[in-house]
Amino acid sequence: MYNPKSLKAEEFICHEEVLETLDYADKNKENVALIDEIIEKAKLRKGLSHREASVLLACEIPEKIEEIYALAEQIKKDFYGNRIVMFAPLYLSNYCVNGCVYCPYHLKNKHIARKKLTQEEIRNEVIALQDMGHKRLAIEAGEDPVNNPIEYILESIKTIYSIKHKNGAIRRVNVNIAATTVENYRKLKEAGIGTYILFQETYHKESYEKLHPTGPKHDYAYHTEAMDRAMEGGIDDVGLGVLYGLELYRYEFAALLMHAEHLEAVHGVGPHTISMPRIKHADDIDPTAFDNSISDEIFAKLCALVRISVPYTGMIISTRESQEVREKVIRLGVSQISGASRTSVGGYCEEERPHDTEQFDVSDQRTLDEVVCWLMESGYIPSFCTACYREGRTGDRFMSLCKAGQIQNCCHPNALMTLKEFLMDYASPKTREIGEKLIEQELMNVPKEKVREVCKENLKNIENGQRDFRF
Ligand code: SAM
Repeated sequence: MYNPKSLKAEEFICHEEVLETLDYADKNKENVALIDEIIEKAKLRKGLSHREASVLLACEIPEKIEEIYALAEQIKKDFYGNRIVMFAPLYLSNYCVNGCVYCPYHLKNKHIARKKLTQEEIRNEVIALQDMGHKRLAIEAGEDPVNNPIEYILESIKTIYSIKHKNGAIRRVNVNIAATTVENYRKLKEAGIGTYILFQETYHKESYEKLHPTGPKHDYAYHTEAMDRAMEGGIDDVGLGVLYGLELYRYEFAALLMHAEHLEAVHGVGPHTISMPRIKHADDIDPTAFDNSISDEIFAKLCALVRISVPYTGMIISTRESQEVREKVIRLGVSQISGASRTSVGGYCEEERPHDTEQFDVSDQRTLDEVVCWLMESGYIPSFCTACYREGRTGDRFMSLCKAGQIQNCCHPNALMTLKEFLMDYASPKTREIGEKLIEQELMNVPKEKVREVCKENLKNIENGQRDFRF
């Protein structure tokens, strides 16, 4: 029944295959010879199968876990260097017809204020985001064919791209909206979106149906097969994710990797990103009601294993996680984080973080300038780069860049140039001082002399007022 090439959800995320994988992992969790063999394979940086990775997840031998962490750190350094790409979510509307029991936007929640931004309000939100220094957004909306039809989403994307406030610009809009049709995905592609993100929430069909009792999202197959439709519609950067806390994490992890293997088998390209959200407190939602919550230790182990199992896939951590947890997992392979997020509709225009329309509590509440400064002080380069998709490097073309080891000649200088823009336009004096020194040092790490020289020239041009350079 299990067939990674099938287009049917229940065949590429085959329940029996997940159970057999977990059984195999349990039987081998102390099999040191096999564990060593899998770690050696991971060192080749070509990834691991869901079965292999599941054995490592089940393994509780402290020295082996240390080896996994060290390898995750090394792979992150080799593939992503010390760059961390920054983004912010933008909530367009919290109208929703679904009944997701973990989400405060569910239809039956009568005490949450419902709000949908007008194009003028979107303008104001985008200006507020640009004024912080953001260049990359992920737009979010509940599922509601009447209030949030695809035309509304498309119009909003157009508005977002059109706003050029001072030196600001949103250069990449990723989209996190409910599963839709091939035709709508094609329209999103034409609107110039970056990644299409859709969290699976849980791959366990029976739980999925209970957690989504009503509304169009109830349909497990339609939701699980969404990425295939997105790819058919021409979107080749797709972002997967599980909402940890809903189901047993070992089940989710095996199935998540099966999903990645499926995309690779059918479309020749794996997921562009994997997000790692954990369930949070929200209006009407008590996270302790979900008894599959995972500890920070397991969360870190999952991040490390995603890093070594799918080295070419970016990994995203949101402000659902605290500064402390972020510090731990960024090291283990995270490539993108959000900063200064507001998960409410219209929240960026408010002085204080509003709660009335919020989707979930934000743990990391620092400003973007504070997050940027903290990253640099921790040895990372915050990057506002959006070059790849604008240069047509999506899907397998991005993967080829990655596989050819050219990231350091491309993403690295792009990170430095976009950081320079941030320092010139938005940073506090302290952040600017730290950033200027960092750029100076990091220029040395651009391997090709020609690229380094062009980058230096562009940095000067940025000082002189020009913007938006990229390799
Ligand atoms: N409505 C869209 C859909 O159905 O996929 C996606 C947008 S929703 C605003 C984004 C994600 O937030 C959901 O996919 C879910 O995983 C996550 N989410 C919902 N409730 C949450 C909670 N209480 N804590 C943390 N994350 C939550």
